[in-house]
Amino acid sequence: MTNARPTPRAILIDMDGVLYHGDQPLPDAGAFLEWVANRPHVFVTNNPIRRPPDIADRLARMGLRRPDPSRILTSAQATARWLARSRPGFRFFAVGAPGLHAELRETGHEDPAAADFVVVGEGPGLDYEQLTIGINLILERGARLVATNPDVTVDAVRDGRRLALPGGGALVAPFAAATGVTPTIIGKPEPLLYEMAIERLGYPVRACLMIGDRPDTDIAGAERIGMWTALVRTGRFPPGAAWPGGLPTPDWDVPNLTALMAVLESVFPDPTG
Ligand SMILES: [Mg+2]
Repeated sequence: MTNARPTPRAILIDMDGVLYHGDQPLPDAGAFLEWVANRPHVFVTNNPIRRPPDIADRLARMGLRRPDPSRILTSAQATARWLARSRPGFRFFAVGAPGLHAELRETGHEDPAAADFVVVGEGPGLDYEQLTIGINLILERGARLVATNPDVTVDAVRDGRRLALPGGGALVAPFAAATGVTPTIIGKPEPLLYEMAIERLGYPVRACLMIGDRPDTDIAGAERIGMWTALVRTGRFPPGAAWPGGLPTPDWDVPNLTALMAVLESVFPDPTG
């Protein structure tokens, strides 16, 4: 730690692989949610499929403390906000789960005939016709291609078995290939989702800590914009795995949330005394 750097005061928390896998909470997630409840925090997820109240309900169904939905920021929300800032009253054509469409309709208008933006998120539904509409909006009308998140796969559990589903990065690829344009990506490791979460927290970026399970997204992206970083090895990156070459190492590298709470106790003292 350098003296010039402010100590972390607020926490951003990735969800999948940190708090749960599929519908299964990680063993120390309950204690962690209690620990973090009285400290400045926001949950950030690249997953655009569920809206914050649904995510909060999902945690409650797992037997965990239900977070206030206002403390959850999804890549779909960040996308909607970014589009509204780029072009107030924007028109969009979206491919992805109903939750993404609902989020975009909060600030924009769905208009497959004259969209300003082709927005690609996760979820079922991408077909030949949608690809055709999106490609022509980009090529003929100059619509901008936007992806909620860059993940090429997403971990899921189906019939009790782990399964990889196509992620936003995979689903946006055919649009990019057909048009030759580079998509604007909102989710981690790009800065926009972090920046909106930090704005919501109201702390300087260098006083914010990102907790995540992926070196290439959670940690690399947070490090790039000057945040503190903590990796928990309960998700994509297991204990014992060698650090991937070329990626910044986190400030804390711990096996699980219990170990993380132990090291952070002195950094974030109990605000209730
Ligand atoms: Mg994760």
